[in-house]
Amino acid sequence: MNLTIAGTGYVGLVAGVCFAHVGHNVTCVDIDEKKVELLRSGVSPIYEEGLEDFLKEGLSSNLLHFTTDYTSAYAGADVIFIGVGTPELADGSANLTYVATVARQIAESVTHDCLVVVKSTVPVGTNDKVEQFIKDSLVNKVCVEVASNPEFLAQGTAVHDMMHAARIIIGVESSHAESVLRTVYAPFNLPIVTVKRRSAEMSKYAANDFLALKISYMNDLANLCELVGADIEDVAKGMAYDDRIGARYLRAGIGYGGSCFPKDTKALEYLAKQHGYKLQTVAAAVSVNTSQRTVLYKKACNRMITFNGIKVAVLGLAFKAGTDDLRESPALYNIPLLLEQGAVITAFDPIAEANCRKQYDFSMQYAPTVSEALKDAQVCFIFTDWKEIRSTAPSAFKQLMRTPLVYDGRNLFDPVAMKTAGVEYYSIGR
Ligand code: NAD
Repeated sequence: MNLTIAGTGYVGLVAGVCFAHVGHNVTCVDIDEKKVELLRSGVSPIYEEGLEDFLKEGLSSNLLHFTTDYTSAYAGADVIFIGVGTPELADGSANLTYVATVARQIAESVTHDCLVVVKSTVPVGTNDKVEQFIKDSLVNKVCVEVASNPEFLAQGTAVHDMMHAARIIIGVESSHAESVLRTVYAPFNLPIVTVKRRSAEMSKYAANDFLALKISYMNDLANLCELVGADIEDVAKGMAYDDRIGARYLRAGIGYGGSCFPKDTKALEYLAKQHGYKLQTVAAAVSVNTSQRTVLYKKACNRMITFNGIKVAVLGLAFKAGTDDLRESPALYNIPLLLEQGAVITAFDPIAEANCRKQYDFSMQYAPTVSEALKDAQVCFIFTDWKEIRSTAPSAFKQLMRTPLVYDGRNLFDPVAMKTAGVEYYSIGR
């Protein structure tokens, strides 16, 4: 099938390379010329394991194309996926400007019947509006239908998640749209759940917000564990055996970040508010997360008289391991606090350093290795669960740091091993 994908971000690009991998003819459209140039040359502008291999494979099989020319890309497509961003607005609602722009471009460009599929995370009812908007603005006499197909991949494992998704949710209002999407996904051989469009839109928020809630619940409990002398890691271990609870997303830490959970919790709260309802559970998850992001900084402030002139090693900048994405990363909430206090920071991140240099003008140094970041440091903060950080020997903190004082937001080390190595070690909930 001829598929066109609008947006070559984490969702659009991953979908594009995976669709080409299973044999579809795919054209990816983006407005960013530099990105498109890079992609045409086989270089991925974002980091995801396996992504560049699929990209090169798609280019060499001639099944994958990149362009900024949306008119020709949309004109001949059988299916057009919309995978552009829906970032948070100041009031917490989702910004639908990018989706609306693509809808307008589709209406101006399509020359034969096609199915438009919204993959971006959008508030309930958006698909209805996109369909109406396209129908109202069509230039040619063609039939366009809209379907919802929310994406559930997680950054850090995006390609794997797309190829081996737990389920594909398709939200449709006609059997024709269902049959087209079933054909698109047939080569993946994955469970397909067909529901109405509004339920599909809601499923995405429901799933993301539930995971955010699970994380905040564990973080909330972790803080109580510290007060009562329990260990959140042991508590989680016991909970994980219960398949009514599930073993994943039980890890306490420095709070969730990234481009999805923070904005999708707020967007659902906003949607509820618009309808005169208060989603108390989601509001609680957001509130716990807001305070959790700086819980280590607050702990350190109780211990330190000042950060002025203090050498601080920051280990990890990305919001989680496996990605170069800094959006809503806990590190970004802590670094400004430390700099404001006069800390002298050396940061390490194996992948996200380049993005941090590009996007933020923090006055801090970067180190190419954990050891170099730790050298002579008086305090260390761990914000990301990179294996390069996890595999550091406890003795290295003692040997390299001027004072071995470590605040670990990811519980990467055994407190007893750290103590035995002579490290003053603080983590979350134990
Ligand atoms: P992103 O910001 O990484 O990428 C969006 C891309 O769209 C950018 O490259 C941008 O240049 C491009 N774009 C903007 N306007 C365009 C236009 N008119 N035509 C073509 N391209 C255009 O976004 P993302 O992280 O991939 O997220 C996309 C959507 O998917 C969001 O709604 C998000 O909530 C949802 N989602 C994201 C993830 C994730 O892990 N990142 C997971 C599931 C769902």
